[in-house]
Amino acid sequence: MNIVILGPQGSGKGTQARLIAAEYGLPHFSPGQLFRSEIEKGSPLGRQVADYVKRGEIVPTALAESVIQERLARPDTERGLILDGFPRLQEQALQLDRIMERLGRKVTHAIKLDITDATAYVRLTGRLECTNKSCATSFHQALRPPAAAGLCDKCLSPLAPRQDDEAGAIRRRLEIYHSETEPLANFYQAKGVLHDINAERPVDEIFAEIKGILGKPVQ
Ligand SMILES: [Zn+2]
Repeated sequence: MNIVILGPQGSGKGTQARLIAAEYGLPHFSPGQLFRSEIEKGSPLGRQVADYVKRGEIVPTALAESVIQERLARPDTERGLILDGFPRLQEQALQLDRIMERLGRKVTHAIKLDITDATAYVRLTGRLECTNKSCATSFHQALRPPAAAGLCDKCLSPLAPRQDDEAGAIRRRLEIYHSETEPLANFYQAKGVLHDINAERPVDEIFAEIKGILGKPVQ
C-alpha cells in the first residue's frame, strides 16, 4: 500500500497518517521531515538541502526528488508507506509517479480529507504551541486543552497561538490548497485510487472509514 493523504491544514492529515502508520505498520513521512533528517545526518544530499533551507529558499525539484527517492528506496517501505504533505502540486504528483515507477511501485490510495474553509479556520485558530522551542508541544483550545490554562503540560512553559495561524496566513494557505492541491483529486480520480472522506467528523469515525477502505492489516 502506497498511500498519499491530501487535505488542507486542519483536516487532520498528520493525525490520520499516524493512525494508519500504527495500524498497518507502515512508515510515514513528509518532505519536511525527510529534509530535516538528511540535514541532521549530514549526508551529501543533506548538505545540499541545508544550503537552500539556510537561505530560506525552496529546495529545487530535482534535489527534492533525490531525497524522496532515497527514502522510498529503503527496505522498511517494502510493504508500503504513507506520504503526508506531498504531493501538493501537479508537478509533484508527476514527480512522485516517476519515483514510484523507478522503484516498480505506484500510488495505491489517495485519501482526501475534506473540510469546509470555516472548519479549517476554527480548528487552526484554536491551535496553541508551547513557547519552549525544544518542547513545541501543540495544544488546542477545544480539542486538546492544556491541564492548566496557558501552560504546557510537559514543561510548564507559557503557550502561545501558533505563529503561522494568523488569519491572513490561513486564508493564503487555503487559497493555495484550493487552486493547487485540490485539483490533484482529478489526477488520482483518473487513476481510480481516489477516496474522498468527510473529515468534519471525530477522528475515530474518520479512521474507521479509512480502515474500511484499506482493509485488514496483513499480519
Ligand atoms: Zn512545553
